[in-house]
Amino acid sequence: MLWTQTLIPTMKETPEGAEIPSHVLMLRAGLINQVMAGAYTYLPLGLLALRKAEQIVREEMNAAGAVELAMPAMSPLTLWEQTGRVWAFGNVLVQATLPRQNRKVPIVFGPTHEEIITDFVSRHISSYRQMPITMYQITTKFRNEERPRFGVLRTSEFLMKDAYSFDPTVESLNESYEKMYSAYCCSFARCGLDYLAVEAESGPIGGDASHEFMVIADNGEDTILHCKDCGYAANQEKAEVGARDCVPPNVPQESLKKVDTPNVSTIEQVSKFLACKPQDIIKTLIYAADGKPIAVLLRGDHEANEGKIRKVAAAAKIELAAPDVIYQVTGAPVGFAGPVGMKQKIPIFADRDIQAMVNVVVGANQADAHLMGVNLNRDFQVDRFADLRKAVNGDPCPRCSAKLALQHAIEIGHVFKLGTKYSEALNARFLDSAEQLKPIIMGCYGIGVNRILAALIETNHDENGIIWSMALAPYEVLLVPVKVPDEPSMKAAKQLHDELAAAGIDVLLDDRDCRAGVKFKDADLLGIPLRVVIGERGLKQGKLEMKWRWEKDAKMIDLDGAAKTLADFVRLERKDNDRFHDREK
Ligand SMILES: [Zn+2]
Repeated sequence: MLWTQTLIPTMKETPEGAEIPSHVLMLRAGLINQVMAGAYTYLPLGLLALRKAEQIVREEMNAAGAVELAMPAMSPLTLWEQTGRVWAFGNVLVQATLPRQNRKVPIVFGPTHEEIITDFVSRHISSYRQMPITMYQITTKFRNEERPRFGVLRTSEFLMKDAYSFDPTVESLNESYEKMYSAYCCSFARCGLDYLAVEAESGPIGGDASHEFMVIADNGEDTILHCKDCGYAANQEKAEVGARDCVPPNVPQESLKKVDTPNVSTIEQVSKFLACKPQDIIKTLIYAADGKPIAVLLRGDHEANEGKIRKVAAAAKIELAAPDVIYQVTGAPVGFAGPVGMKQKIPIFADRDIQAMVNVVVGANQADAHLMGVNLNRDFQVDRFADLRKAVNGDPCPRCSAKLALQHAIEIGHVFKLGTKYSEALNARFLDSAEQLKPIIMGCYGIGVNRILAALIETNHDENGIIWSMALAPYEVLLVPVKVPDEPSMKAAKQLHDELAAAGIDVLLDDRDCRAGVKFKDADLLGIPLRVVIGERGLKQGKLEMKWRWEKDAKMIDLDGAAKTLADFVRLERKDNDRFHDREK
């Protein structure tokens, strides 16, 4: 491809509204263009990279035995009502009403396709002999983002690979899941991404086992806990806290006293007002666990993990209790609850760290008052101690008790064991080998294709621009003739271009007649792995200058046989991204 025949609108300045490197660089390198908040055009260069990511994912899906199909973006709202997801997605669901002759047809632009594929499967799979089967597609999805930001990381329209497995037994589901899990590892490794598979809660999509694939990045919106010693990794919703030293310090117990704390209700306000640390305050949260009130005690500086609380309370659903319930239970308005002398007897669950606290501050179950010098067992009892809080940086690892590191990450994929939620709602049943009618057991598996690009750029760039892996680079070789008007230079450049193209190498020839400085700056900005400079002086000696984007120094190669030399480099690097990984960052 000739530069002047395509459109690569590079920019010198950081575009307005772009906050993170991947967004800035995708705009500056002319990969994308914003149409509206949360919707982007992929320009020729951006689309080439996107298609490469897509193709790698497709090849790995096929290799894992999944079969490709394509479902429409539009589907009837009624399908989503059947599974309860109109409510579950809320404002995220993009809906419209189509006028059809004398009717109005409410539709949904698919945020994902469980409903559509399960409905289809319910009509065509009826026997265990037709399973296992995994089907996938790579299509545009729609999820309204109320606050779209961070470029292609959070948009309302995006390219997603979504796969769905259908199995007759849980054992068979586990095998299908493992195949997808391995295919994800292969896909991301081929792209050149440093990824982690982390344990995850299944979230609103339902089901009971899942992993998220994450790329650690400072600007990632997800938070994970990672143990470098044993490899344990989990997102913050799921991360367990390992065994803690819960022995209280050996200090004399103070006597209990009530203090006035007018309008002082948050942990921050209390610690300021009473001149104590948040670590010396017990936060008492009143939850409704399947509608029944429970109290949860946490150290003041910790945050509740509602997934853990729900499990310990053995409830299907938990939510913070309403103010009137809190008043009934504690006798005080919100912000003054405490474990000492609650009005109603309700179960009290406490995080393990509470066991190590002495002489603490708690709400007095009375408006505008707190208690000081409170001690466990002497002043209040706990029904059950458990791990109830979000893990934080430095917590002990649940597997090996080394320290967990809290890191930010970009989610690029997830795998879920769904179970029978959708097959039951949409009546997808089959006859097993004993002629028993059973719901099909499902799994679902997503990859955000656009996010692969953003995550790669976010973690692979320098002050001059993008650093592509060979696998995802829109072009693999960039030819830069220093002087376009110089006939021998352009002749050599064109010949090399044609030979590389004929060898199946993606090559871009910068045939713009402009200053070499401008071309070199753009070359760094675009980040194409191999840059080849064709200069007058080198040509006279039969030499070209070759440079890897991530290396400081260029080296000279012979013009004679240059196409083969370069093609060999590209093919090797395509395979395993070795040089890309081994470079000094
Ligand atoms: Zn560990």
